Amino acid sequence: MGEWRVSCPDVSKEQGRIIIIGGGVLGTMHAIHARRRGYHVVHLEREREARGASVRNFGLVWVSGRAAGPELALALRARQLWEEISADVPGTGFRPAGSLTIATTEAELRVIQEAVRLPDAAERGFELLSPDGVRQVNPALRGDVLGGLWGRADAIAEPRLALPALREYLSRQPGYQWLPDREAVALESHAVRDHTGQWHRGDLVVVCTGAHFTGLLGPHLRATGALAAQSPDGTGLRRVRLQMLQTAPFGTALTTSVADGDSLRYYPAYQVPSLELLTPQPAVAAAARAQLLMVQRLDGGLTIGDTHCYDEPFPFDVDEDAYDHLRARAQALLGVPLPRTQRRWAGVYSEVIQPSPASTSGLYHRSEVAPGVVAVTGPGGRGMTCSPAIAEETFQ
Ligand SMILES: Cc1cc2nc3c(=O)[nH]c(=O)nc-3n(C[C@H](O)[C@H](O)[C@H](O)COP(=O)(O)OP(=O)(O)OC[C@H]3O[C@@H](n4cnc5c(N)ncnc54)[C@H](O)[C@@H]3O)c2cc1C
Repeated sequence: MGEWRVSCPDVSKEQGRIIIIGGGVLGTMHAIHARRRGYHVVHLEREREARGASVRNFGLVWVSGRAAGPELALALRARQLWEEISADVPGTGFRPAGSLTIATTEAELRVIQEAVRLPDAAERGFELLSPDGVRQVNPALRGDVLGGLWGRADAIAEPRLALPALREYLSRQPGYQWLPDREAVALESHAVRDHTGQWHRGDLVVVCTGAHFTGLLGPHLRATGALAAQSPDGTGLRRVRLQMLQTAPFGTALTTSVADGDSLRYYPAYQVPSLELLTPQPAVAAAARAQLLMVQRLDGGLTIGDTHCYDEPFPFDVDEDAYDHLRARAQALLGVPLPRTQRRWAGVYSEVIQPSPASTSGLYHRSEVAPGVVAVTGPGGRGMTCSPAIAEETFQ
């Protein structure tokens, strides 16, 4: 095992055993941290390969939009960890590409001008760019732009590649056991039973089962009032559904990830006076709560999204109006036609709306299910970004 470069308390030289449930990015980052601390790890996933939010996302390690204070600190720590882990595991596709948030209206430009004067703008790597500056940083943006916000701290990982790459790295050493096709069905102190009837016992069981509010964690989440829909004050966890698409390879390199001015409405970093002066979104975008985020994959395809739906039951189908809007926005910024859409999908994540008494963190949900069993979920739209730092906090 490579040297763990991050200074952390040496909680286990005794070679204990950690059971992790869930092969998404949260479970996998817990496996990384547990192995680095010398624990034997047994890692259960109910599918053959993770199929949840962690493989459906943009792969954005997104620092720029985080709320000032603890959320930004968590994201910055996670960004550092992504870089360190990826030095050992280049297969994550991590690259410190930065981001550009593009203004196409005067009102959006004013928000960006105020954002670069925020006290923590330097930590976010913010810089205001002119239209020429935008094209120097990302020559693929040939559309009409008024300016841009360069977020140098932002980065990209490859969601479809990162988890298998991290597991391959873990599997090169003894002490890591990956058990796909194993659904965890029952929990008790320091132990979990899978659907084959096998019990797995450890010093700690970490349950990272994503946006599932029934099943394994259902009784615990309901009993502790951790679900927003069931808590009297509306605090706790809710689920969010997003629509995404990916194009065929785009012939030009997109050197940064790209966001449109609508993203200024949705990320908590931009709580500046001018925000209120943004004109309303087009009706189709407002209905879908759409913002354009665009990331180029290693094969040249463009991942484009997203929308936000909070009302359950979620649609089982995807809506073309939202895709028309997102494709048009992307095309306007690129100034050239987009390649054809190759793939469409939807994904669901869970998020903490307001910190609830049931959780030990306000930024995600962590609670004790039973002695020696901890649930970690609900990181919301920042889960890919923050997962390494969240896992680190579990072991601290
Ligand atoms: C469309 C979309 C775009 C996003 N974009 C970004 C982004 O660019 N940047 C960012 O920071 N965040 C992003 N997010 C959020 C991020 O993807 C999630 O917060 C994160 O992936 C959650 O990880 P997880 O491991 O908790 O959940 P999941 O990825 O859902 O993993 C949970 C795993 O647990 C398994 N499981 C469930 N129950 C059991 C059981 N009983 N036994 C065994 N296994 C079980 C599931 O099969 C699944 O593989 C996005 C989310 C979506 C949906």
